[in-house]
Amino acid sequence: MAVRLLTKLKLIPELGGAAYSSSAAAPATISDFDAQHKTPVIRKQKHIPKAHYGGRHAVTMLPGGGIGPECMGYVREIFKYIGAPIDFEVVDIDPNVDNDEDVQYAITTIKRNGVGIKGNIETKSEASYVTSRNVALRNELDMYAYVMHCKSYSGIQTRHKDIDLAIIRQNTEGEYAMLEHESVHGVIESMKVVTASNSERVCRFAFEYAKRTGRKKVTTVHKANIMKLSDGLFLETSRRLAKDYPDIEHNDMIIDNCCMQLVAKPHQFDVMLMTNLYGSIVSNVVCGLMGGAGICSGRNYGEHYAVFEPGTRNTGTAIAGKNIANPIAMISASTSLLKHLGHYFHADLIRNAVTRTINEDRIMTPDIGGTASSSEVVKAIINNLGR
Ligand code: ADP
Ligand code: MG
Repeated sequence: MAVRLLTKLKLIPELGGAAYSSSAAAPATISDFDAQHKTPVIRKQKHIPKAHYGGRHAVTMLPGGGIGPECMGYVREIFKYIGAPIDFEVVDIDPNVDNDEDVQYAITTIKRNGVGIKGNIETKSEASYVTSRNVALRNELDMYAYVMHCKSYSGIQTRHKDIDLAIIRQNTEGEYAMLEHESVHGVIESMKVVTASNSERVCRFAFEYAKRTGRKKVTTVHKANIMKLSDGLFLETSRRLAKDYPDIEHNDMIIDNCCMQLVAKPHQFDVMLMTNLYGSIVSNVVCGLMGGAGICSGRNYGEHYAVFEPGTRNTGTAIAGKNIANPIAMISASTSLLKHLGHYFHADLIRNAVTRTINEDRIMTPDIGGTASSSEVVKAIINNLGR
C-alpha cells in the first residue's frame, strides 16, 4: 500500500514536495547553469521553446481509443489540404497492458514538442494500481488548467440559442487525486485533495482568461457548504483573487443549483471556475445544451505544455468505425492547436469552413440532427476551405 501511495503521489508534483510559486519568474541575474543545476524550482519556470524546425512545428498526436483514430485522420486530411505547417509525431498507447511505458513515451514526446493533440486514451485494466492514462498525462505534465469555450452554432437546433461561456476547471487534483484505500474491510476512503497553490494558480488563470478575452463575470462553482475545508479553500482563494480584478464581477454558486441554472437559464454565465469533478460534470451539461458530445473542444494548459482534445473526453467506443462520429470536436481542437502555435491564418480558415458547413450548408452528423456521415461532413468542410 505504501509503495502504491508513493507512486501515485509522484504523479502530483505539488504533493511530491516540489515547491511552486505561480508568479515567481527567474531573477534576471541567475545564470542558465545555476537555473539548470542548482535551483530546480526556477528551472521549472524557465521558458521551454516549442519544437520548431524549418518553420514547421512538431506536435505529438495521441489518437487514443474509440473514435479517436478516425477523427485524427480527418484532422490530418484537412491540415494536408491547407498545408498547415505541422508535423505530427503519432504515439499509440495500448489500452490492454498494465505497465505505463507507452504513456511515459507519450509524455516524453510532449515534453520535447511542447504541444499535443489527443483523443481519449483507454485504460482497460481494472486493477486499482493501474491509474487512468489521461489523468497520468495531465498530472505528469502539470497541466493544471482545463479550458472549454462553448459557443452555440446557429445551425444546430437546441433549446437555448446563443450560448457563449467558458469553463475553467482545475485539472490535476481534487476528486481525481486517485488516492483510495480500504481502511477496514467494507470501508473505502477516497481522498479529495485541494491545495492552496493549485487553487491559486487555476483561479488566477480564470481571472486572467476573463481579462484577456474581455469577459465580464467569473462564477466559482463549489460545494463549500458541505466540503467546508476543501471546497472552502478553493472558494476563499477565488474570492481573494477577485479583489485583484475590480473590473470583473465575481459570484459563486453551489454545484447542484448551478446545474439547474445551466439547463434553465444558461445565459447568466460567462466564465465558470471550478474544481476537477464539477468541471467534468458541468462541461458535459453544457455540451448537452449545445447539441452533444461531438462539438466542443477542450484545452489543457500548464506552465510549459498544452494539449488539445474533444471537450467531453468521450471515447465513443460504440460508434467507432461506423462513419457516424461527429468530427467537429476534434477539428475544433486542431484549430485551437494552430492558434496556440501562432498559425492564426490556418486556424481561421478551418474555423470559418466549419462554421459555414454547419450554419449555412447545414451538413451535419446525426447526433446534431443531420443526415451526413463523418466523411461527408469533412468533405463539405474541405469544399468550404477552397471557397
Ligand atoms: P465515455 O468515453 O465517457 O464512456 P462514451 O464514449 O460512451 O463516453 O460517449 C458518451 C456518448 O456521447 C455516447 O452516446 C457517444 O455515442 C456520444 N459521443 C461521444 N463522442 C461523440 C462524437 N464525436 N460524435 C457523436 N457522438 C459522440
Ligand atoms: Mg470511455
